[in-house]
Amino acid sequence: MWNYSFVFPSVLVMLTLLVFFLARRRLPIRMNRVFLGVLLVHLCVVLFDIISSRADENYALHTAGQLYALNTAFFIFYLARIFWFYLFTMTILDARPGRLMMILSTLPFAFSELVAASSCFTGLVFTIRDGMYARGPLYDIIYFCSFFYCLLSIAMILLHGRHMKPTLMAAALGYNIVLLVGNVARLIFSNYLIMGTFSMIAIQVIYLAFLNPDLYLTDRGPAFNMRGFQAVLSEISPHRKYHILGFILQNYSQERSILGGDQMDQGITQINHYLSRSFPEALPFYLRSGRFVLLGKASAPWAAIQREIAERFQSGWPGRNAPIYLGITFASITSESNLSSADRIISNLTLAFEDMSHAATTFGEDASASLQEIDQQVDILRSLERALERDAVEVFLQPVVDSHTGGIVAAEALARIRDDQGRVIPPGLFIPIAERGGFINQLGEQVFEKTCAFISGHDLAGLGLSWINVNLSPIQCMQRDLAKRFGEILKRHNTPVESIHLEITEQSMVDYSMLQRQIRQLQDAGFQFVLDDYGSGYSNLTRVKHYPFINIKLDMEVVWDYFRDRDSLLPTIIQGFKKMGFSITAEGIETKEMADVLTGIGADYLQGYLFSRPLPMEEFLEKYGK
Ligand code: C2E
Ligand code: MG
Ligand code: MG
Repeated sequence: MWNYSFVFPSVLVMLTLLVFFLARRRLPIRMNRVFLGVLLVHLCVVLFDIISSRADENYALHTAGQLYALNTAFFIFYLARIFWFYLFTMTILDARPGRLMMILSTLPFAFSELVAASSCFTGLVFTIRDGMYARGPLYDIIYFCSFFYCLLSIAMILLHGRHMKPTLMAAALGYNIVLLVGNVARLIFSNYLIMGTFSMIAIQVIYLAFLNPDLYLTDRGPAFNMRGFQAVLSEISPHRKYHILGFILQNYSQERSILGGDQMDQGITQINHYLSRSFPEALPFYLRSGRFVLLGKASAPWAAIQREIAERFQSGWPGRNAPIYLGITFASITSESNLSSADRIISNLTLAFEDMSHAATTFGEDASASLQEIDQQVDILRSLERALERDAVEVFLQPVVDSHTGGIVAAEALARIRDDQGRVIPPGLFIPIAERGGFINQLGEQVFEKTCAFISGHDLAGLGLSWINVNLSPIQCMQRDLAKRFGEILKRHNTPVESIHLEITEQSMVDYSMLQRQIRQLQDAGFQFVLDDYGSGYSNLTRVKHYPFINIKLDMEVVWDYFRDRDSLLPTIIQGFKKMGFSITAEGIETKEMADVLTGIGADYLQGYLFSRPLPMEEFLEKYGK
């Protein structure tokens, strides 16, 4: 009696789509909810279509009650599907019809449903006669209903759809026309179960044009994009209490050109994963150019969320070789600010972001690095990559002098790289780039390895050296297997561990517990530690006490400052440290007077241009080898 060749494939297509739709991340917006309604109602229609048709064909196997129930269910869902398509059209049009209009437009649907549902008593749409299914006198009400809502939808699109993009308007008209054609086909080929296929095509058009998740998701991790943000904001009703927490990566474009696009994108992806994992109570958005937004109920613990994010950014994000460090600035908007429309909210947020990107910087006081600076940084990055690749990082040595004898006792290893014309680039320029770009571990290892090779290749005592200081970046200290890696290098060069002192700066002491663990491991391996640049940051004495330093190096600025204004602070600090058992090195000694004064107030070792600038290894050997 009925032909099923269309209906089965369309059930499979439908299930595939449903799985896709449910599996992907969706925005909690009306359009998605109505579409899910369309899908579920459609699924019910198709299932009851198949079941009731089979039952009608095999009527002898079923009671009249069963046939009534199955067919009634079919007609109820069939009519509901028509209406749900209409609701979807109204949703995408964002047309808010008045109450009267809404009631009027619902009436035909409500009436048809009533007629269909009461058919078991009235026999108006269908009836079971002699145990067999037969159409009733008002069967055509389902066609009436279908045509009515298709045409109403098309009229509404033509009337209210002008603000839509032409492609979307075409898609909206398209799926309604498909439904219209489907109804005509059903009229003509009434023994084919064909309407489900046309409905399925309409659903596909809707999915592809309006709901494809890729339209609302960024391609950088599990966050929604600007379109998604607009969609959600446009549905926020004025009396709902919401909170928008935004933050922006500082110096986004500079950082991007320095780190490289793919590494930056990888970082952004990581951040989005972190946000969606850590704050399930909020919706994450990524609005391009390093701008992130979390949106949620006002009642969520926003202060704590902001604190947690700020803390997370203290540590790095996995980069190509090592963590990359990104600075952020926050901005927030709450429902209290009474911004009436999505556009107002977005433009306010954009303004806030603009302000922040002008105000915040990681390149020092200057508000935004000039193009020339960026260009220079990119050049440095290239030189750095080249030097690392060719194992061409150079190590310069600067002598450290015993303040009492005036003789050399040690040296500090200082990294140098060269630009493509062979000019030396100072570490003040390339170390920060290496740290942000994820190259610092590799760089540090080359310096360490070359220092080891120097030690084992020469008579250290003959040069007057008892040890060589090697600088360790805070980021290197985060590398969990640092002790193991350094241990292997020492072994490879047969270098005694006592001949190397590791210098770490106050900055490293930010991540207190991590550093303590790391230092303990290195200490167990025999390394000794020096605190570098004391006074340039904000380390306090009690903290210093908790580390096994053998020596404190006073920062050059602290030393120079003392000569500008000789108060008792520096001598007191030096005495304090000495009481705690640390020896003291003064850096930046440029004159005989400085050397004498510093010796007078207790410095044990001196380092500075007075004795020598940092020298290439060969020059150092030439000067001190005799
Ligand atoms: P630092 O460890 O405090 O090194 C001392 C810096 O002071 C060196 O600068 C040295 O050239 C400079 N200096 C020494 N005596 C004088 C002086 O009398 N007057 C003046 N004006 N400067 C003096 P350099 O070589 O440019 O290194 C700068 C910083 O770069 C170092 O400061 C260190 O923090 C970092 N650095 C250098 N090599 C490495 C390395 O291999 N790894 C790491 N992580 N950092 C390094
Ligand atoms: Mg140093
Ligand atoms: Mg220093």
